[in-house]
Amino acid sequence: MINYYEALEIIKSEFQKLKLKVEEVDIFESYNRILAEDVIADVDLPPFDNSAVDGYAIKFSDKTQWKIIGEISAGNFNSFNISDDEAVLITTGSKIPVGADTIIPVEDVDVQSNTLKLKTNAFIKKGMNIRTQGNDLKKDEIAVRQFTKIDSKTIAVLASCGKEKIKVYSKLKSALLATGDELIPINEKPSEDKFRVSNIYSLYAAMKEMNHTVINLGFAKDDKEMIRNKVEAALEMNIDMLITTGGVSVGKYDFLKEIFEEQGVKEKFWKVNIKPGKPIYFGVYEKDERRILVFGLPGNPVSSLVNFYVFIKPAIEFLFKQNTINKLTATLQNDLKKKDGKRHFSRGVLFTENDELKITSEFSQSSGNLVEMSRANCLIEIEEDKLNPKKGERLKCILI
Ligand code: AMP
Ligand code: MG
Repeated sequence: MINYYEALEIIKSEFQKLKLKVEEVDIFESYNRILAEDVIADVDLPPFDNSAVDGYAIKFSDKTQWKIIGEISAGNFNSFNISDDEAVLITTGSKIPVGADTIIPVEDVDVQSNTLKLKTNAFIKKGMNIRTQGNDLKKDEIAVRQFTKIDSKTIAVLASCGKEKIKVYSKLKSALLATGDELIPINEKPSEDKFRVSNIYSLYAAMKEMNHTVINLGFAKDDKEMIRNKVEAALEMNIDMLITTGGVSVGKYDFLKEIFEEQGVKEKFWKVNIKPGKPIYFGVYEKDERRILVFGLPGNPVSSLVNFYVFIKPAIEFLFKQNTINKLTATLQNDLKKKDGKRHFSRGVLFTENDELKITSEFSQSSGNLVEMSRANCLIEIEEDKLNPKKGERLKCILI
């Protein structure tokens, strides 16, 4: 059985072969999308020398007293050609008048009618409080790089460069199909031996959290014919990923692997030496120009979501060159049980105490315990050869 990193590398290499599409969106719609071009500054930023404070513009000398000859407020430039003993009142963001090279903040001066006097303790330095033209970025330089995720910081730069329409990568499209005789819709009360189909919702939300598109194909009974029809139809769709849940283990009614094979999906691996989520299947379907990555995830709600967090999410981030910091090292606050040679992704709670990162894990690690998973905020990653980690050990954890 392959290990976690081998499996992740296989998935990443297949993701890399997907052809990324590009579309143009309005700047307001570009939030949280990934930039598909380098955006070049069409002007210097800032576009002109301007004042960094509310104050008085002067020509630097050893003088401590000036005559105020007028004012300039932001957006309302007046041209003055000021001489050594003259000053102009200026507000933050106002263009600097000719002759001025220094701005004294209002807090550092006393004003009596038209006379400006430097306060005795005030210190001035030539060039102070001027934001010079192009100091942030020069025209024709790259303002925002391709593959940047557009957020509140970067969108301001795009706006300053006058970009109303932004080229972004199209969202990946995936389809979700759950399988299992035990599944019922969530608007029904489970009777006897049924479970509400919760999987679809967690995986749907997980794709949405990454801002990609999901098509919900609902769920099918463990009936080979029925599942085959659903899978066949899904593989005809214009999607990048098909994610199924359930029926991928070694049970009598686990048909997914067989069906994928019949439909021409090329298996890349089945089963990884991890816990939870060991039975994960990964394959690729290619027809004409289309390429669909096929994930057969186990049905257990914890397993399928952990599979998403440790395989699908990092592979998508890799595809879009996102350098997401979501793995931290923290100190374990209680002993953990781990007796096998698998890599574990155990549910934990990460917190800070006295500026130190700590993790506890007092959850049952059953892959059926969905509520416990919902209360966790990280997966504690315990390597294959580590057994029964003890309180005080430093372990990696993945934020979820
Ligand atoms: P399987 O991987 O098909 O053996 O499913 C394992 C177990 O996961 C089932 O017995 C159910 O308890 C649970 N399960 C399977 N599919 C879902 C689903 N879509 N939503 C919630 N629980 C599920
Ligand atoms: Mg099943």
